[in-house]
Amino acid sequence: MSSSHRKTNRDLTGKSTKQKLHHSPTMASTTNGQEDQNQAGRHQEVGHKSLLQSDALYQYILETSVYPREPESMKELRDLTAKHPWNIMTTSADEGQFLNMLLKLINAKKTMEIGVYTGYSLLATALALPEDGTILAMDINRENYELGLPVIEKAGVAHKIEFKEGPALPVLDDMVADKKNHGSYDFIFVDADKDNYINYHKRLIDLVKVGGVIGYDNTLWNGSVVAPPDAPMRKYVRYYRDFVLELNKALAADPRIEICMLPVGDGITLCRRIN
Ligand code: SAM
Ligand code: CA
Repeated sequence: MSSSHRKTNRDLTGKSTKQKLHHSPTMASTTNGQEDQNQAGRHQEVGHKSLLQSDALYQYILETSVYPREPESMKELRDLTAKHPWNIMTTSADEGQFLNMLLKLINAKKTMEIGVYTGYSLLATALALPEDGTILAMDINRENYELGLPVIEKAGVAHKIEFKEGPALPVLDDMVADKKNHGSYDFIFVDADKDNYINYHKRLIDLVKVGGVIGYDNTLWNGSVVAPPDAPMRKYVRYYRDFVLELNKALAADPRIEICMLPVGDGITLCRRIN
């Protein structure tokens, strides 16, 4: 990684914010002393994105059901990512476990991921797929993907991944232009630039099969979706908040999908295409 990258902090979408990197993605300042106290007690896990009100409860989930069952390779990738300066972007271990379970439940075989970073959700996906399963993985940054790649290779699942470097939108446009791609994806995980989610949705709805699932990540956006407009918020949280609010409204009103918004990680909205 270049030194200029080290100096420029990134938000959860990978775009530059020129802000101080904080290790907790919760809102920076609080509106009253009680909340300050709660914030002080929040745990220190890197990439922590839980919206649970009790840290003890989240810790209980991690220690009782997530960490003891986390595959060795995912732990290795999580530890490696924790040392990276943009580690705030990683998928949390509980969300990784959730994605892995979901993919098995729906028997996913052909999948796509937009927003890879070092590959924690990608590895959770690759481990869940059958030997001949596939993931089209896209990110504007190959360097971070390559940090995690040796771990993915060691886990024996790299052959399922086709990585494309660059903005996802033009790739999706090309795919939509070819009818044979329509209705072909079992599962699509979107975890990239939040200001483009609506644009992704317009294309992905054609690419996912009827009965298939699109998962939009960070749809509770650090809890900011319910914050008053004048609440103190980090710059990147404020910037993307309106896009997330718009997306949430659009998904709720879209008759082509059934939806389920889950408070896992920073919020994930599952959309099942129904026609
Ligand atoms: N899913 C990842 C994980 O489990 O660690 C985290 C992804 S991170 C929150 C967001 C990623 O989106 C960054 O790696 C960033 O480079 C990527 N990104 C931002 N804009 C993008 C775009 N237009 N197309 C593709 N990827 C993009
Ligand atoms: Ca995310």
